[in-house]
Amino acid sequence: IAIGKINVYKKEEQQVSRVKAADTEAEIMRFRMAKETAIRQLSELYEKVLREVGEENAAIFEVHQMMLEDAGYNDSIEDMIRIQGINAECAVADTADNFVRMFMEMDDDYMRERAADVKDISKRVLTILNGDFKEAVAVKGASIIVADDLAPSETVQLDKDMVLSFVTVHGSPNSHTAIPALVGVSLPLDGAVDGKHGIVDGTEGKLYVDPDEETLRRMKRRQQEEAEQKELLQTLRGRENVTLDGKKVMLYANIGNLKDLAAVLQNDAGGIGLFRSEFIYLERDDYPTEEEQFQIYKQAAEAMAGKRVIIRTLDIGADKQCDYFQMEHEENPALGCRAIRICLTRPEVFKTQLRALFRASAYGKVSIMYPMITSVKEVKRIREIAASVKAELSGQGIEIGEPEQGIMIETPAAALISEELAKEADFFSIGTNDLTQYTLAVDRQNTKLDEFYDSHHPAILRMISMVVENAHRAGIWAGICGELGADQSLTREFLAMGVDELSVSPESILSIRKIVLETNVEEYKAGRL
Ligand code: PEP
Ligand code: MG
Repeated sequence: IAIGKINVYKKEEQQVSRVKAADTEAEIMRFRMAKETAIRQLSELYEKVLREVGEENAAIFEVHQMMLEDAGYNDSIEDMIRIQGINAECAVADTADNFVRMFMEMDDDYMRERAADVKDISKRVLTILNGDFKEAVAVKGASIIVADDLAPSETVQLDKDMVLSFVTVHGSPNSHTAIPALVGVSLPLDGAVDGKHGIVDGTEGKLYVDPDEETLRRMKRRQQEEAEQKELLQTLRGRENVTLDGKKVMLYANIGNLKDLAAVLQNDAGGIGLFRSEFIYLERDDYPTEEEQFQIYKQAAEAMAGKRVIIRTLDIGADKQCDYFQMEHEENPALGCRAIRICLTRPEVFKTQLRALFRASAYGKVSIMYPMITSVKEVKRIREIAASVKAELSGQGIEIGEPEQGIMIETPAAALISEELAKEADFFSIGTNDLTQYTLAVDRQNTKLDEFYDSHHPAILRMISMVVENAHRAGIWAGICGELGADQSLTREFLAMGVDELSVSPESILSIRKIVLETNVEEYKAGRL
């Protein structure tokens, strides 16, 4: 919850007029010099962001530098100046419009989002051509920044101590501009909100403009409660996750990259229950090498110092697309070639990742987890490939550990044959996000279907219970790593089912520990709680 003054950030629309260039070669030189200045600014921004928040966030400024060097972009501008005899400003603006239109028409979400980057770099060049070197976005006192959309170069220049929260009308969670707390909020950007008092409720996804006294009081109370709760929860660090009647549960964290490790340690996670390795692939323009992956997995293993680190093998496809995989267009990507299916059809990609994982397992308690399993045959094939990778590494004299190999139960098929699958896996982790999608036939990406996407559906809960039972019968453990694992209204139910592990976002760990510590499972089962 953020409470403060709303500051509408308006991008200055650059007025570009079409002027006949007296000397086209001189105009081209003007453009080239402006471009060089832009590249220098971006390189400085890159260094600044790298220092402040790391490579991942800085990378976009390197991409912007590359875009400015792009031959197609440069040729278009210089040809326009030369052939049409126009001024550099007009050539930059027209080229930007053309490129934006071209990107917007592309099928691929990632490419469509690059339209914002073209606008951003062109705006920078235009600002320089106009003789305006001003960089910083002025923030008047601590405020809630409301904007149509925010480019990375804009958010990075904001004084972070002065920004209470971001709210934007546009921007998707996949774009680089997705720093705001709320995106896709429909609101006017005129004087109607600027300077007004605002409240951002990140939990409910709401923005209140000029809230009445009662709302303000209520939100201030919640803000205070949240702060107190957070402080209180910190006192639970170091405690064991054990119920009043002595039942233990493992509380692990879900992560997407190494930067999340700080939160994992701060919230006292017992391990990492799901490292979504696909983000390593999604952040790059080309396949990550074995060495690159090995270094990342090794760092995670070392940071967790002997605690379990479950790394899930590549799970791209469906909503997570990687251009360089050059996957064919699919009518139903969620039912298409995704996750383990890609790995099994592209063994070289799979083997590279497995080599990195086995090597990293020499540096900590690394476990390997396979996603989107539907059959016993698949698991047998995977384990054969893993065994051959292991043998190859040993043959090369490379040090490896003995990682557990578990599977995700996230398809109804896997849940229904969990008795058989349990004989082939070292552990189960239930992916309730996909399990809900596939069981209820509801696209998890389609927000319009939210009311039908019911993870509490008896079919889901019954499957979870069944999977846990089958795991225990075969002597292996079973956890939940989908979002439902963090649903506090179900924690006691999961304990009653005998779920051995809950893997949740690092910030949820201590709240769940609190429930565990206050629960008597037998009393709950007897209906006395
Ligand atoms: C799931 O499906 O529940 C899961 C944890 O995997 P993802 O959300 O990455 O598909
Ligand atoms: Mg999944």
